[in-house]
Amino acid sequence: MDVSSSWCWQTGLSAFEVWASSCLPASVLLERQAARVAALLRWALRQSPLYREIAADRASDSLQLSDFPVMTKRRLMDRFDDWVTDPALRLAALREFVADRDRIGDDYLGRYQVWESSGSTGEPGLFVQDSQALSVYDALEALRRPVLQPLRRCLDPWGAIERLAFVGATTGHFASTASIRRLCRISPWMSRTVCTLSFLMPVRELVAALNRHRPTVLATYPSAALVLAAEAKAGRLRVPLQEVWTGGEALTPAMRGFIASSFGCAVSQSYGASEFLAMGSECNLGRLHLNSDWLVLEPVDEHHRPVPPGVLGHTTLLTNLANRVQPLIRYDLGDRVRLLSVPCACGSALPLIEVEGRVDDLLKLDNDLGAPVSLLPLALTTVLEDDAGVFDFQLQRRDARSLWLCVAAEGPSGAATLARALAALRPFLIAQGLGGVTLGGSFGDRGLPGRSGKRARVLADAPRRSRGHAAAPRGLTQPA
Ligand SMILES: [Zn+2]
Repeated sequence: MDVSSSWCWQTGLSAFEVWASSCLPASVLLERQAARVAALLRWALRQSPLYREIAADRASDSLQLSDFPVMTKRRLMDRFDDWVTDPALRLAALREFVADRDRIGDDYLGRYQVWESSGSTGEPGLFVQDSQALSVYDALEALRRPVLQPLRRCLDPWGAIERLAFVGATTGHFASTASIRRLCRISPWMSRTVCTLSFLMPVRELVAALNRHRPTVLATYPSAALVLAAEAKAGRLRVPLQEVWTGGEALTPAMRGFIASSFGCAVSQSYGASEFLAMGSECNLGRLHLNSDWLVLEPVDEHHRPVPPGVLGHTTLLTNLANRVQPLIRYDLGDRVRLLSVPCACGSALPLIEVEGRVDDLLKLDNDLGAPVSLLPLALTTVLEDDAGVFDFQLQRRDARSLWLCVAAEGPSGAATLARALAALRPFLIAQGLGGVTLGGSFGDRGLPGRSGKRARVLADAPRRSRGHAAAPRGLTQPA
């Protein structure tokens, strides 16, 4: 069987399982989750040298999930070659693969997808997905999405008449971009109706490309949807949108209302990551349900002790029950999640969750003619991560014509990091028509703490002198 027929067969099986589990009672979902946890632990102890070492010869039958240590991205990446369960996978070769941007969405060794993630923790990670995991993510994405337009979905259950536009980070092997490229490769029909656009493009070029493509579905980050909704309200963006799908950042009720009213269509939100693409799906009542038949999420406090239902965790531990090639067991995801014990009126027994999304701000600056230009926080963080290799920073908007970059690295390497980061930002700002904006920065400076305790990496309306800047007065100021 070739790769695509094996994908069809496995996707059909996963689709049936996902569809059939969607209406099961809570007790059966828990049994299913427990059986998958036991199977994953047995597999990891048999096939992963790292997990064999951790278990220290204890039999898998005597171990519970809670016996396993919390694993961080750094610890797992340091032991990557011992962590994976296929010895054909080696970190050095995988790094070469993801360095090649022409291969985004290609199969690796004919059977895997490889997704990269930097995340706000600043440690780059690589996540290899096997064919079962991919078929489960595809099924969860397709079958647990809310029915936003019942009549249209009834007449066109497979979305054959939809034209999708994805606006996001298209320059790396990121989960969403790689997934769309992969599905377009498998399905010639999708490749004709889907367009992917980089959020690094200046807004006017993005608007022109969307006006040409005329999408009926827009998939993007809430901050990008917000900017595009303002363009639609101003009459510059004219697209026949029927649905907007968002994910990756917080979507507040006010943002949802503005996007929905500007486009005149429904908006839905999902929760996913490179570690598990479809962790949570929204129901028709707009509540987020955890796909608990295929993953375990444990909200925990700062000492990794479980927090009670209804309490927001300091971080969250993920156990991925779909992917066997790179076992994620009690992996510190870094997200803050609240697990609710109340049932949802929609009737689904899948548990309700609330996720505290990223807290980065949209930056509004003025160009040389005094016209406003919006900069997407994810575009700015992508430039700094991908082009400068800088992860621990805070970019502050001081006023409509000036930006200040705080870089945490200290000493001589901090100075070099800051210079590299400013050099990466400058051409991006010029491309957005912001060549005259003043750009300065400091190193040995982590910037300001966030209002919610979570530190933003892109901050609007920062005061002129931050606490971090006063503590680290060395800096340099250069015009963009
Ligand atoms: Zn619900």
